[in-house]
Amino acid sequence: MFIIPLMAAVYGLILGSFFNVLICRIPEKKSIFRPASHCPKCKTPIKPLHNIPVFSYLFLGGKCHSCKQPIPITYPLIETLTGGAALAIWYFYPPSLQPLSWQSIVVYATRVSFLLLIIPISMIDLRHYIIPDLFTLPFLVIAAGIAFLPGSPTPLTALYGILAGGGLLLAIGAIGSLLLKKDAMGGGDIKLMAAAGALWGAQTALLSILFGALLGSVYGIVLMAIRKLNSDHQIPFGPFLGAGVWIAVLFGDKLMNSWLSVFDRLAGG
Ligand SMILES: [Zn+2]
Repeated sequence: MFIIPLMAAVYGLILGSFFNVLICRIPEKKSIFRPASHCPKCKTPIKPLHNIPVFSYLFLGGKCHSCKQPIPITYPLIETLTGGAALAIWYFYPPSLQPLSWQSIVVYATRVSFLLLIIPISMIDLRHYIIPDLFTLPFLVIAAGIAFLPGSPTPLTALYGILAGGGLLLAIGAIGSLLLKKDAMGGGDIKLMAAAGALWGAQTALLSILFGALLGSVYGIVLMAIRKLNSDHQIPFGPFLGAGVWIAVLFGDKLMNSWLSVFDRLAGG
């Protein structure tokens, strides 16, 4: 009973450790394979025993074993978050067993990979205000490819999804740029939502943007309220869009059904 969720959590923790490497090295255009994991301060290679997700951080008291400099808390946090994300996918977004085919496995694996990669995408956007093409373009290509396999999504679903996700943000960005006289939408955000649309279709893409915009607005209002935000302040949109995708994919159907039932009740008196 506990084996599969335990495996999901352990897989998530290990993947989170790899995400830490991506978050540090991709924006600096460094190889993600070489050199092996090392302390960012003293460059000492990290022994396998000191590279166990979360546990090593706790065991080492949050300090590098050789130079005793503090290890950033973001490392164990990203690992814990990814472990939790893997558990959430296991619980809320399990693979549907009917019809089980290699095509459905490829589609599911691609969707889950995209969901999990939202974690490093968001961290990189938070730190550098950029979503590297490396994360978004492969999903556009793969999603367009698998749309031609038998089963869902169909090529037309993927196309509508790309137009809904990418097109809407492109339009919002164009209007925003005219009004604000500066770039209002990052190209990375547009590609991210085009990829989400290609993988899940137009409805999920639109719901994701809706939730993302709501979350981003709340964040902006809170920042303005505590006066940390002026009009020049840049808010990375990627983490909010990413959270929007998570909500839309994991809970979109349930939310839509409960809204529809409210409308039905109102209409029925
Ligand atoms: Zn060190």
